[in-house]
Amino acid sequence: MINFHNTEIVFRNKSNSDLRKSYLLFSALAHNWLVKAGGKLTQSLFKIGFPVNWFVKPTIYKQFVGGETISECIPTVETLNRSNVKAILDYSVEGTDSEEGIQLALEETLRTIENAEGNPDIPFAVFKPTAFTTISLLTKVSAGEQLTPAEAAGADKFRERVELLCKTAYEKNVSILIDAEDSWYQNFIDEVVNAMMAKYNRNRAIVFNTFQMYRHDRLEFLKKSYQMAVEGNYFLGAKFVRGAYMEKERARAAHMGYPSPIQPDKEHTDHDYNAALKFCIEHIDRITIFNGTHNEYSSSYLCELMAGHNLAKDDPRIWFSQLYGMSDHISFNLAHAGYNVAKYVPYGPVKHVIPYLVRRAEENTSVKGQTGRELSLIKKEIARRKG
Ligand SMILES: Cc1cc2nc3c(=O)[nH]c(=O)nc-3n(C[C@H](O)[C@H](O)[C@H](O)COP(=O)(O)OP(=O)(O)OC[C@H]3O[C@@H](n4cnc5c(N)ncnc54)[C@H](O)[C@@H]3O)c2cc1C
Repeated sequence: MINFHNTEIVFRNKSNSDLRKSYLLFSALAHNWLVKAGGKLTQSLFKIGFPVNWFVKPTIYKQFVGGETISECIPTVETLNRSNVKAILDYSVEGTDSEEGIQLALEETLRTIENAEGNPDIPFAVFKPTAFTTISLLTKVSAGEQLTPAEAAGADKFRERVELLCKTAYEKNVSILIDAEDSWYQNFIDEVVNAMMAKYNRNRAIVFNTFQMYRHDRLEFLKKSYQMAVEGNYFLGAKFVRGAYMEKERARAAHMGYPSPIQPDKEHTDHDYNAALKFCIEHIDRITIFNGTHNEYSSSYLCELMAGHNLAKDDPRIWFSQLYGMSDHISFNLAHAGYNVAKYVPYGPVKHVIPYLVRRAEENTSVKGQTGRELSLIKKEIARRKG
């Protein structure tokens, strides 16, 4: 059984002053009202052009973001790698619908693939499909609605952009993860990603789809995706997460009067998440697993499944992943034990990563429960160092 609570391993790369700063930040995040008010205030200040970098950058940004550019992230990549934790540079600019914004995001994502080429410290690239077209178009195609000629051309353009990224990843031999967001436009993304896997996953999993297990239909969809891979004779790249947009999903379903795509409760999400891991280990000859979670049980359960199937800890078909600045106790202890671990390292200009930071802040409030765990580990390490 893996011990996630060895804080000496977890915080080896943090100075006493770093630890104190993290302690203060997570203490502040524990206050739900502060997170809500702070998130709203920061976004409003940005909108009116008020400079907020001076307080965002040394605090929450430093905790959860690698830097503004790829080169600014390099010291972070090196620090992680000293503990055998790999990095995934995630250009986290969200909500840019303009052609210019899309083009910039495309060029930057291509740079992350090129930067990862031949670099074992950065084994994956990643992108969000919504960076490359509008949500309204993705939604319309996903619903099977009739498209105007301009919309059909827009859908083709989206396919071309995704293909360019997957083809480049294939040519550079860098695996590429395609994130999932809202369910109401995932059908079209699934269709495009499946086509990419059929094309580029002939020898190994280069392209990865994301399965959000808080959706009650995803275990079946995983089995279907596997069946398609068998029939098409390619490898399935399967990134698992529970899902980050539950409230929004439920609210939209209630508002529009359709059945919620989300599991009835957390237990069902946990059940399907772990069942998906089991299914993949039982079919590991054709699947590469990317276990994207901060859940201790789902992390140790995958270790148990691997041991039960006599798979090496560093089997190249199995990866564990957490977000930068969160759940280091899982990442560093797994890597120390010899498992493959890669952390998402978001990067981008302060004002563009605000939506990402707001999500992280909300996830770390006392209400959602992460903070208690982070704080108690930091406290334990501070006490250990004092002897
Ligand atoms: C490396 C990595 C990559 C990620 N990429 C994505 C991505 O592409 N798309 C995405 O959506 N998210 C992504 N996430 C976020 C992820 O979906 C979760 O929001 C987050 O990791 C918390 O889930 P958990 O498994 O870590 O832990 P836990 O704390 O055990 O689970 C919390 C999660 O359980 C689910 N849940 C909570 N309450 C209920 C309930 N009442 N009913 C049903 N389900 C419930 C929700 O999904 C919630 O986020 C990623 C996370 C990581 C670590």
